Amino acid sequence: MLLIGITGGIGSGKSVVARVFAALGVPVYDSDSRAKWLMAHDPALREQLTAAFGLATYDAAGQLDRAYLARVAFNNPTQLAWLNELVHPRVGADFAAWASQQAAAGQPYVLKEAALLFEANIDRGLDAVITVWAPAAMRQARVLRRDPQRSAADVQAIMARQLDDDEKVRRATYVVYNDDSQLVLPQVLALDAAIRRGGEVAEKSLDFTKT
Ligand code: ADP
Repeated sequence: MLLIGITGGIGSGKSVVARVFAALGVPVYDSDSRAKWLMAHDPALREQLTAAFGLATYDAAGQLDRAYLARVAFNNPTQLAWLNELVHPRVGADFAAWASQQAAAGQPYVLKEAALLFEANIDRGLDAVITVWAPAAMRQARVLRRDPQRSAADVQAIMARQLDDDEKVRRATYVVYNDDSQLVLPQVLALDAAIRRGGEVAEKSLDFTKT
């Protein structure tokens, strides 16, 4: 079974494209929601996070205090690296267990969706990576429509923390263009067919992929 990553800058449409694959029957692992779930529910990870960041990590009712953790970790690179060191291996193990179930069920491939896929070196364990691309101005407009609580400055700050889009395209095996220049569905159908055939390198030269 092939392990295929799917990434893209915030607002690129990565989740929408992953949902199109899911509609074709492809199992999709959403790393970002799964990481949040594990931080809230995995007993061993809860223990490690409490030891690392203090009892305030979970409130009196035992719920993860995201605001506290964000305050502690996102303002301090050392603490952020520490948080990642605890969370990433747990998500990696969870993904591996999930993927082996999918392999046992006879799936030809699965998608691992992650916003910071290259940044977190997740691509190293994967057979191929799909980057979903749209220009920055379009991405910002989409996010402002999707997340009314975010300001343009918030979105720009998030974009600044993500790997440059051109670099994401350069490192990708395949690119899905979600900038209204091409329809998404035919790109996904062609990619799905290529991956089911084994993701042959020749497929990269299809019109919709990077040149
Ligand atoms: P990401 O997961 O990359 O942050 P999403 O998949 O959530 O992005 O897409 C961002 C927003 O843009 C969503 O509200 C989505 O519905 C919208 N969107 C995505 N692709 C398109 C498109 N081709 N045309 C219009 N809106 C789109």
